Amino acid sequence: MRREALLDIRNLDAFYGRAQILFGLSLHLYPGEVVALVGRNGAGKTTTLKAIMGLISATATHATFKGHSLGKLPTYRIARLGLGYVPEDRRIFTDLTVEENLETGRRPAGDGRPPWTPERLFRLFPNLAEMRGRRGNQMSGGEQQMLSIARTLMGNPEAILLDEPSEGIAPVIVQMMAEAIRAMKAEGVAVLLSEQNWAFAAGISDRACVIERGEIRFQGTMAELMADEALRAETLGV
Ligand code: ATP
Repeated sequence: MRREALLDIRNLDAFYGRAQILFGLSLHLYPGEVVALVGRNGAGKTTTLKAIMGLISATATHATFKGHSLGKLPTYRIARLGLGYVPEDRRIFTDLTVEENLETGRRPAGDGRPPWTPERLFRLFPNLAEMRGRRGNQMSGGEQQMLSIARTLMGNPEAILLDEPSEGIAPVIVQMMAEAIRAMKAEGVAVLLSEQNWAFAAGISDRACVIERGEIRFQGTMAELMADEALRAETLGV
């Protein structure tokens, strides 16, 4: 029996004002998988995540999450369906501690799954456990990024859209981030990961979508993309 896609987007067009940025983009995310949306700077990765979250003007012939139409839903309603979003610009409260930031993200779990608690999250993000009393403004960019992801998990999403989590952070934190994403997947959270950092994406993703100038150029397993050197050189420069 074919599994139902958790997130199912077909023929997505998106615009900034009159400028069309995405052209007929289709992608899907199955429960518990990690899919990388990879492409060069300016290819349209951030725009794709924003369009899915209803943050910019967009149309699609089909856009559902868990079978619910995303249609014209406002962003907060999309989030309440169980679709978390971690934007590039880490949304944490810099004057609150790690623990207080986590509490601000707490929402009831919609289904029978055990809800995330700070203690459970600290097992995924051990470095946050060590700084639980520290304020956001005393943390590095990478640590703030981890906190931003952990805070989103406190809302008990079934899937998370992660926008370039490895961007501009120290290699040691990138490594921790990769481990945390693997652990999230093991806990059943699906991830759509927008990334420019090919090595990071390749190490943690099951499938890949390659985006170029607002269009999907390739969809397949990570192994297939790894094997296609010509496509990677052309679209990703790696
Ligand atoms: P990056 O790694 O730079 O974030 P990206 O693949 O996420 O790259 P987007 O940010 O989605 O790319 O940008 C796609 C295109 O949309 C680019 O040509 C960009 O210049 C344009 N764009 C992005 N934001 C806006 C905006 N607010 N108004 C107009 N055009 C925009």
